[in-house]
Amino acid sequence: MDPYLRVTDLRVSFPTADGVLRAVEGVSFAVEGGRTLGVVGESGSGKSATALALLGLHDLRRATVTGQVTIGGRELVGRPETEIRRLRGRNVAMIFQDPLSALHPYHRVGRQIAEAYRVHHRGAGRGETRRRVIEMMDRVGIPQPDRRYDQYPHEFSGGMRQRVMIAMALVNDPALLIADEPTTALDVTVQAQILELLTDLRAEFRTAIVLITHDLGVVGQAADDVLVMYAGRIVEQGHVEQVLRTPQHPYTSGLLASVPSLRGDPEADLRPIPGSPPSLTELPTGCVFHPRCRHAGALGDRCRTEPPELRVVGTGGHRLACHLPTRERARRRAEDTTRA
Ligand code: SF4
Ligand code: MG
Repeated sequence: MDPYLRVTDLRVSFPTADGVLRAVEGVSFAVEGGRTLGVVGESGSGKSATALALLGLHDLRRATVTGQVTIGGRELVGRPETEIRRLRGRNVAMIFQDPLSALHPYHRVGRQIAEAYRVHHRGAGRGETRRRVIEMMDRVGIPQPDRRYDQYPHEFSGGMRQRVMIAMALVNDPALLIADEPTTALDVTVQAQILELLTDLRAEFRTAIVLITHDLGVVGQAADDVLVMYAGRIVEQGHVEQVLRTPQHPYTSGLLASVPSLRGDPEADLRPIPGSPPSLTELPTGCVFHPRCRHAGALGDRCRTEPPELRVVGTGGHRLACHLPTRERARRRAEDTTRA
């Protein structure tokens, strides 16, 4: 099956007073209908800049975007804004971290979903629209949708508001859904419910989902595949079980060690990765992760001078950008496990 979304060698940069800011550097991936790709990284890793490029939302007077973004077989990069809007149309929808800021405070919730529906169903009558909205509200788990249709956003809890956003995003049955930190503002129980809902819906509607998050725990709960981004690059890529069970990149291991939900013990001693991500206008030489990597000295000067290529390791499309040889990675992982 052809992937619904295919991204090839995507690059996004901006001129700044401090030099060119390279937000995304050569990112490639594909997502099929009915699958969720988790894109994970700290802030400044390029995950949101990647999402905006998927929607053709960068301001091209400021940003330079190159590479290919193909949605439903059609190329997005380099097309005029009006054409991109038409191409996105009802095929692509987006949900964000903060549903309150995306909802109009003085409009009834049902009416807001109805408006989203009518943008792409201009001929739809009142009765049909209301039926469709109530059906969607019910489908995303909003109780008593008939009554809640006429309520205002402030009458909904955070989790219920996120369900409203999901209903609004899915009411036109989009083929691609981009979710940028959709559960970050929610407590863990509600977060788990929303992720479960997204997982059910992507199977039911065969939607391709790109789930952007800083939290590998979220990826573990809701994604099929994962990209780990660092300083605008993919450092590791593969099936979720593979990457979470045997992370190969030192950065992925570091992220995993700092996620309580994946360690089974929320009180466990978290080990955040020392240091912070580099400035995107002044990237380190060689491997961009080397200033924070405890293995950087293992190969002499190599990590400091030579950028590692993203290459296939093992089976199932697992890819990695790290110079450490396979056996050495395995040895060091085993060492870490005994130490932990
Ligand atoms: Fe660490 Fe070197 Fe691998 Fe980069 S290439 S992650 S510095 S071991
Ligand atoms: Mg962001």
